[in-house]
Amino acid sequence: MTDIALHAGLIGQSGSREQLNTPVLVVDRAALSANIATMAAFAASKGLKLRPHAKTHKSADIARLQLKAGAVGLCCAKIGEAEALAAQGVSSGLLITSPVVSAPAIARLVALNLATQGLKVVVDHPDNVAALGAAAGASGKPLEVLIDLDPGIHRTGVASPQTAVALFEAIKAQSSLTYAGLQCYCGVQQHIEAFDVRKTALEDRGAYIREVIDALTAADGAPPIVSGSGTGSHRIDAELGLFTELQVGSYVFMDDQYLACDLTGDGAGDGADAGPYQRSLFIDARVVSANSPGMVTVDAGFKAMSTDADPPQVVAGAPEGSRYFFMGDEHGALVPSSGSPPPLGARVTLAAPHCDPTVNLYDAYHVVEGDTLVDIWPVTARGRSR
Ligand code: PLP
Ligand code: MN
Repeated sequence: MTDIALHAGLIGQSGSREQLNTPVLVVDRAALSANIATMAAFAASKGLKLRPHAKTHKSADIARLQLKAGAVGLCCAKIGEAEALAAQGVSSGLLITSPVVSAPAIARLVALNLATQGLKVVVDHPDNVAALGAAAGASGKPLEVLIDLDPGIHRTGVASPQTAVALFEAIKAQSSLTYAGLQCYCGVQQHIEAFDVRKTALEDRGAYIREVIDALTAADGAPPIVSGSGTGSHRIDAELGLFTELQVGSYVFMDDQYLACDLTGDGAGDGADAGPYQRSLFIDARVVSANSPGMVTVDAGFKAMSTDADPPQVVAGAPEGSRYFFMGDEHGALVPSSGSPPPLGARVTLAAPHCDPTVNLYDAYHVVEGDTLVDIWPVTARGRSR
């Protein structure tokens, strides 16, 4: 049975969060709405466009909330993510932020271009530019492309101002491609916890991006769009005068890695309640075994959350200071530092660790206001990594 079939009858019933089958992905509607509004207001106040990254939430419902708050479109990590959103009507202004290279993927890309408005994709190699040009030409509809710039981690992107200019020339030579601008996402710098250290690192990258923009401009390729930035860097990037739009993702949920960061420069990590963005994503689990002194076992393990970050914090349902330890695929241990662990069957709320890969483990968001389930939203693009 799907999550929706299992739980739809509980929507709107007071206290219904307690009735959910666990482990379950929970989003706090008030915190999510506040995060969306805060980022929208920030971008507007800086005269920047917002194209939030859907890799974080993979949800047409959340995308629609972002569009309603003024976003110009959504970023997607892969063609499959873009297809899934478009199929749900989120079909305008999609930007695919990784190169689409294989022949079957390019065939889907040009089909999606025909079915949507303003689709954009990044490129980082002349062979790919030629392949996209041929496919878009055969489809009869021009395709917009942005040059992806490597900020120095060698993941994707062109690696120098000269190669950026060469790629611009290659794009110009394809009549079925429209040059839309430049993308640069400085991923490594996002989670530097101290504001000043992060600022210095991003200013250094900003100088390099400026060099590339200047080289393109000198070659008659001034980028109409300069897209980039993330939750960790948006306040700094907004001051660099380089970007035309922000492609922030994690701000909607705020996981521990971001809550440990000082996003605003006030000298303190923002914590769950202190910063401009609040934690909105949780996993509700339950105690399923309570036979050992000083600990209990909950029903959420490796399959219930991402494991690349620290284990989750325990935010409700157990004595303050309780800690969670992974106990395998399906289970975790809950160990209070003082007091008794919660009893068999008790509900425990964990903070979602690294948000993006955690979301991808679930079919649906259970949207709550306090302890009441108020909606269920499918994770529209779950598993659409290709
Ligand atoms: N842009 C790109 C290309 C990304 O890979 C990501 C996240 O990994 C983002 C934007 C969103 O960044 P964040 O989650 O730091 O806001
Ligand atoms: Mn992430």
